[in-house]
Amino acid sequence: MVPNTVETPSVETKNPYQLAMQNFEKAADVLELDEDTRTMIRNPERVLMVNVPVRMDNGHIQSFTGYRVQHNTARGPAKGGIRFHPGVTLEEVMALATWMTWKCAVVNIPYGGGKGGVACNPKEMSTGEIERLTRRYTSAILPIIGPDIDIPAPDVYTNSQIMAWIMDTYSMTRGHLVPGVVTGKPLCMGGSVGRNEATARGVFNTIECACQHLKIRLKGAKVVVQGFGNAGAISAHLLDSAQADVIAVSDSQGCIYNADGLHIPKLMLHKERTGSVKGFPGSEAITPEELLGLDCDILVPAALENMIDGNNARLIRAKIVAEAANGPVTPEADAILDDKGIFVIPDILCNAGGVTVSYFEWVQNEQHWAWDLNEVNTRLEKVMKRSFQEVLEVQQQRKTNMRTAANALAISRVVEASTIRGLYP
Ligand code: GLU
Repeated sequence: MVPNTVETPSVETKNPYQLAMQNFEKAADVLELDEDTRTMIRNPERVLMVNVPVRMDNGHIQSFTGYRVQHNTARGPAKGGIRFHPGVTLEEVMALATWMTWKCAVVNIPYGGGKGGVACNPKEMSTGEIERLTRRYTSAILPIIGPDIDIPAPDVYTNSQIMAWIMDTYSMTRGHLVPGVVTGKPLCMGGSVGRNEATARGVFNTIECACQHLKIRLKGAKVVVQGFGNAGAISAHLLDSAQADVIAVSDSQGCIYNADGLHIPKLMLHKERTGSVKGFPGSEAITPEELLGLDCDILVPAALENMIDGNNARLIRAKIVAEAANGPVTPEADAILDDKGIFVIPDILCNAGGVTVSYFEWVQNEQHWAWDLNEVNTRLEKVMKRSFQEVLEVQQQRKTNMRTAANALAISRVVEASTIRGLYP
């Protein structure tokens, strides 16, 4: 059917830092924060931009731009991942660092927020090139990182091997092994059991809470997952194990659908073998718009920022949107989802399982101790479920949505710490 009216496309900004600030002001309004308080905590404390020259395999030197941003350290050392992606910009890293401040505060772990990134395409680089890039980037940000200062971790297109190189580079300059400088390390080098699955486990825990709150049965619920990286694929796997039906998933190369549910363990093998979910036997190819518009109970955006915006939010028919990615829904899209009565589990709560187990890893490193998987997962579940209830309480008290409630709770904790510490000097 051809529509007879043409809607004007939304022209809202795609600058993630501006979007993060819009959400900050909204929550600060709910808290009735005065301008002085906002001024104290709004902006990043420290922004470092570095040049990263790397000898490529062809013998030439290529120069990459890297960043490390520490948004706020009132509650503890800066904490947050490092992203290797062609789309990395200063504004993106600033937004991601800001979200880390609120994320650590909302789950009440003793960290501030930071983030790093290098604009590069690791999919087109050899292992040697990625190692040289990582080590040179680490040495460039070395003056501002450390186990009590700023602790990096994995993010989009970085992994435990890259964390091991960061740890090694840092440790070589100190003359001894410093495992607590980074989290998400390999298990044999002080990594924590359960860290790799932690983001997805936290997503799963908050979905369980939301289903209980909305009286939706997880068993048999229809799920759509956008993005099939670490967070998306493992979330799909956990939901599938709980007998939900994952009917569609996507990655950067395509979207696939099967009304009866996709076989997730086989799909994970297919992705490992071919590099994409595309062409999975027994599935049908669909468009990204068709994927968003599927009739389902739970939509899990697990890709990048701004995937759901003022232009496509109207398509969504899910009851729950569980944000495994950081910043996947723009403020304009948020308003549309609100109007439709869709329950959003906001990113800073939904995907906080990753940084929570990073915190557990750092605690284990500091204590020279290793917990077992049951201890990690039990503690994680407790943190996620308690945090969900605390955000839900604020949402109900303040009569706002879950995002503003999560931001308000987080911001109030950062304000409390900043106020009690006072302004130096
Ligand atoms: N990159 C993850 C995030 O966005 C994890 C950060 C961490 O573990 O420090 O939350």
